[in-house]
Amino acid sequence: MKVIKTISEMVAWSREIHRAGKTIGFVPTMGYLHEGHLSLIRRAKALCDFTVVSIYVNPTQFAPHEDLARYPRDFERDEQLCRSAATDVIFYPETREIYQPDHFTFVGTEKMTGKLCGLSRPHHFRGVTTIVAKLFNIVQPDCAVFGQKDAQQALIIKKMVSDLNFPVQIDVAPIVREEDGLAMSSRNKFLDSKQRQEAASIYQTLQYVAAQYRKEKPDFNQLKKEAANFLNNRAECQIDYIEFLDAENLEPPAADRPVLMAVAVYFGQTRLIDNIVLS
Ligand code: AMP
Repeated sequence: MKVIKTISEMVAWSREIHRAGKTIGFVPTMGYLHEGHLSLIRRAKALCDFTVVSIYVNPTQFAPHEDLARYPRDFERDEQLCRSAATDVIFYPETREIYQPDHFTFVGTEKMTGKLCGLSRPHHFRGVTTIVAKLFNIVQPDCAVFGQKDAQQALIIKKMVSDLNFPVQIDVAPIVREEDGLAMSSRNKFLDSKQRQEAASIYQTLQYVAAQYRKEKPDFNQLKKEAANFLNNRAECQIDYIEFLDAENLEPPAADRPVLMAVAVYFGQTRLIDNIVLS
């Protein structure tokens, strides 16, 4: 397994692979890897000949008051996990390699960003689309794997790829959960033991609503209230949002189409997201 830190070396490696007629699968991450990330790597390996994992905590997707500085990092552990998953290359650049001091070009999507996480994190998705576009140009993957855990992000990336004609096939992998149902996340490490225990109720809330949804014709306002009560009765947390939107375009839900129930919750300073598709 190679660790590549510069853009020029990454581009040269990718060109060589393509010259040999082989394909590259790509998994962009912010590191502090867990089984969710590893499931993405396994999918990339199944789809393509070679696999590149990027580990880069992208500053442009964090607002000044957010957790960029305290975002968990452990490169040695990540390196071991990538090796155990038979990754071919880790792309591990520093910020001065990725953003020149005079960087002022950004990629933004309209429409899908002004809701869900985009409401409480208004600059977040512009940072995400910009770094993913840059990484696609640097790594030149044939396919890239994203997680359904960040459902809004996956939809926005798919739209960006389609609108800007990136020659990259996007694959979206299911959410990997802890035994009690909590979606795996690098940020789970910030939870104290009480919060960690209570955080399992996020998934219980999704399942509770899924059961209600199957029972009757859905009244989404009512379901929202019930979900909030269910969660507030089980956990000391602050709900950022509980929303129901069309699972494919984030428009208001329409009859006979899959519905995304998305949740964002603060446990203290730690913001967790999760979702389920109701159909
Ligand atoms: P992150 O390092 O948190 O930016 O995530 C990198 C990629 O891993 C994104 O595409 C996430 O959606 C995906 N991911 C994060 N957590 C999970 C999970 N629990 N299950 C599946 N994919 C995940």
